[in-house]
Amino acid sequence: MPGERSRSLYEEALGLFPGGVNSPVRAAVKPYPFYVSRAEGPYIYTVDGERLIDYVLAYGPLFLGHRHPRVLEAVREQLEKGWLYGTPTELEVALAKKILRYYHPGGMVRFVNTGTEATMTAIRLARGYTGRKYIVKFNGCYHGAHDSVLVGAGSAAAEYGVPTSLGVPEEVARLTLVARYNDLESVERIMRQYGDQVAAIIVEPVAGNAGVIPPKPGFLKGLRELADRYGALLIMDEVITGFRLGLGGAQEYYGVRGDLTTLGKIVGGGFPIGVVAGPREIMEKLTPSGRVFNAGTFNAHPVTMAAGLATIEVLETGEPYRVAREAASRLVKALEDLISRYSVKATVNHVENMFQVFFVDGDVSSPEDAARSNRELYARLHEELLRRGVFIAPSQMEAVFTSAAHTREVVDETIEALEEAFKRLGE
Ligand code: PLP
Repeated sequence: MPGERSRSLYEEALGLFPGGVNSPVRAAVKPYPFYVSRAEGPYIYTVDGERLIDYVLAYGPLFLGHRHPRVLEAVREQLEKGWLYGTPTELEVALAKKILRYYHPGGMVRFVNTGTEATMTAIRLARGYTGRKYIVKFNGCYHGAHDSVLVGAGSAAAEYGVPTSLGVPEEVARLTLVARYNDLESVERIMRQYGDQVAAIIVEPVAGNAGVIPPKPGFLKGLRELADRYGALLIMDEVITGFRLGLGGAQEYYGVRGDLTTLGKIVGGGFPIGVVAGPREIMEKLTPSGRVFNAGTFNAHPVTMAAGLATIEVLETGEPYRVAREAASRLVKALEDLISRYSVKATVNHVENMFQVFFVDGDVSSPEDAARSNRELYARLHEELLRRGVFIAPSQMEAVFTSAAHTREVVDETIEALEEAFKRLGE
């Protein structure tokens, strides 16, 4: 559990940062966040002298675990040569070629700095390309912290989105139409009414910001067909799933292609990144070849390019996927055994190397189902695991991730902690 040093740092931080942190989920670790001094492989080490097995992995990017030697070497090598030039580098050419090979052969890439910037740019590009102004998103899907996507479902009767944050004008939110994830009929209804004004449908192919919710068979294909029928673009937001479900991400995994892909997290090897990728015809609308504006002082940052390239080269061996998949399968099986042994009302959703447990009766196939789960019980599981040196996502609405560093021994130790934690939950 977080100790004295973390507590005093947090107390100081409360006077320095709104809510004491620089991204809200970090404050979800109760009673206060632990502060980290270093990390290696599957472990993070806190300033209080604790070692934690990390299943959060910085909310997704660290698919190779912490401080992977190949990434470290690539970053060091780049640092020696200087770290920011404001001109193009060889590295960005190499990383773009890798990405395009798996996502949009023959297409183009724009590097930005966060997933937020990637979806913001992709949406502007879709609007600029189609000349249309509406977008369709799904209630409970997260695409970053910009106005068009900080929008959730309005009343059941209205498709117009409502702001989920103060400061997002209603007029902006109304340009975002909100459908229900895994409910094609809800998308069809919107498209029947607004289809010829919809620039893009944006979706997380696996909803990863409402726990983990896989697409129902036919859902993504149905979105593809609806987008085609109405001349809208399909934006696959693979910020989480890109390079996670395999080199080709969810689009390869489920066999459905988007017109544009947004990437982030893993593809930067743990450094800030966002990517928009798509066919040349659409991508060329971006500045300077086109008139859809995008620019960035840090776009295609050389250190990020080096880290991303090294990461993908290691991923291409296939071994990280094998280890991460096995770790997740064993943990999910252990959870399911415990759920049945203790007769807990809970269900586990799982795709490859990401999963989440929901304390709820019945299946979770939508963010609305996820919202019905007992978050208090989840918070207790989180706390009991933390006491035993295991760090899972502090919020039910995040995913638990495994990595190439979660070896059999690490998972064995985690399963012991899970057994102890469930014993306590039952008390
Ligand atoms: N899109 C998805 C699917 C995400 O999960 C996230 C972040 O978690 C984002 C976009 C935003 O990315 P970033 O936090 O890098 O801005």
